[in-house]
Amino acid sequence: MSKNKRPPEHVRAQREGKERDEYMCSFCHKQALEEERSSIQGHHIIQYAEDGPATKDNIIALCKECHDDYHSGKLNIDISAL
Ligand SMILES: [Zn+2]
Ligand SMILES: [Zn+2]
Repeated sequence: MSKNKRPPEHVRAQREGKERDEYMCSFCHKQALEEERSSIQGHHIIQYAEDGPATKDNIIALCKECHDDYHSGKLNIDISAL
């Protein structure tokens, strides 16, 4: 079984987290227009692979650029301080 497979509660938590953040990136504060919402991604504060909970409190909305930069180590942001 792949570690990346997300059960439905994670999919729902991602959507709820993105809706709570109004589809605005938590890093650069770019807000996606309605037709651009697919460019906003839910980032797990505690990774799912590290037993992060499937709740919206564990999700922040990030634009694709910031999300990619964060995971490639280009952004050094303390998420817990957001
Ligand atoms: Zn961003
Ligand atoms: Zn992420």
